[in-house]
Amino acid sequence: MKVAFIGLGNMGGPMALNLHKAGFEVRAFDLSSAACDALRKDGVAIASSAEDAVTGAQVVVSMLPASQHVEGLYLGSDGKAGLLEMLPTGTLVIDSSTIAAATSRKVAQAAAKRGVVVIDAPVSGGTGGAIAGTLTFMVGGGAADLERARPVLDKMGSNIFHAGDAGAGQTAKICNNMLLGILMIGTSEAIALGIANGLDPKVLSEIMRRSSGGNWALEKYNPLPGVMETAPASKGYAGGFGTDLMLKDLGLSQENAAAVRASTPLGGMARNLYAAHSLAGQGGLDFSSVIQMFQKKP
Ligand code: NAD
Repeated sequence: MKVAFIGLGNMGGPMALNLHKAGFEVRAFDLSSAACDALRKDGVAIASSAEDAVTGAQVVVSMLPASQHVEGLYLGSDGKAGLLEMLPTGTLVIDSSTIAAATSRKVAQAAAKRGVVVIDAPVSGGTGGAIAGTLTFMVGGGAADLERARPVLDKMGSNIFHAGDAGAGQTAKICNNMLLGILMIGTSEAIALGIANGLDPKVLSEIMRRSSGGNWALEKYNPLPGVMETAPASKGYAGGFGTDLMLKDLGLSQENAAAVRASTPLGGMARNLYAAHSLAGQGGLDFSSVIQMFQKKP
């Protein structure tokens, strides 16, 4: 099966590589030549443009930063036609970017008019999950369309959930990421409090991990450098999930909360803390660097 893969960043790169390793005929593209070069070294065929990548593909997967990128790619922008205009009837599009549910629905509806199926399939599991092929997919779209996508999703993830109709995957994802954003701040506060009292952060982290405060950050993504070798914190906060991407997701959750009149006070506070961290110049660092806001400056 021929698969086009658009967006080869921290997540898309390893996801595309897993499809290649699984035997799919992958043609990949990213606007960044560095991202393309990294995959080319691993033997993945690199296309000269998104249009070139999708030519002849039965399935298109995209992993882009935000709503405007997905809308621009499929519906067009700045006078440039979108990919939907050239995809043959019957093509399956799997968009794994985290974007507004309304944008996912808009793209899916425009595609349906042309006989193209688009499902939203945002992911959780971080770059570690993308590399290991153990991502969780939260899918919005028709059940039969999910079944068509399953052989592809199976090679990139180990949990596949059908959240509901178009856009429902995105709604599930922003609920999850609102919780993740909040729990990373809470975990950071607790570790910083322990350090301020002279506790060893490794020992404290292990105590909390095995106690009632245990959570995903303590299991897999400790925010303090040196506690967990594999976490972005121990790699200069590089290569993980950017603070600005978390800020985008918390913005989406707050817009959604306003639309349905939900009360999400901690989500709002978390958004503001990541915004302040971004304004302080740390938007490009992994979101776990938010712990710096609670640490004494040297
Ligand atoms: P990233 O910034 O590392 O990668 C995005 C890539 O998209 C970049 O390489 C960029 O050049 C490329 N791009 C942008 N517009 C393009 C276009 N029109 N055509 C081709 N390429 C284009 O971001 P990421 O961390 O890989 O995240 C991608 C998406 O996945 C985001 O929506 C993010 O919120 C979500 N996500 C990220 C993580 C994580 O841990 N990093 C986890 C779950 C979900």
